[in-house]
Amino acid sequence: MKEFHCGSLVPGCHWHSADDDTAELVKRAIDHMKTAHGDRHVGPSLVARIRQNIHKQEGDRPVRQGHIASTSRWWGALPRF
Ligand SMILES: [Zn+2]
Repeated sequence: MKEFHCGSLVPGCHWHSADDDTAELVKRAIDHMKTAHGDRHVGPSLVARIRQNIHKQEGDRPVRQGHIASTSRWWGALPRF
């Protein structure tokens, strides 16, 4: 899951959205920009700026699996009870 926080482009705005599909997320973000902040924010650079600020959601599965995999190596080295 990826997420976009409008506050990363428009300070003070708490709108955010999450989706697996980046293109869908960009579309939603642009819709939000138009309706909430007006057309002055919408331009050729906006899509690039939105994409730059789309991040993987915290607790995303691939990240978490990697974390568990690296810690389980340490746990595996400990004696079992
Ligand atoms: Zn906003």
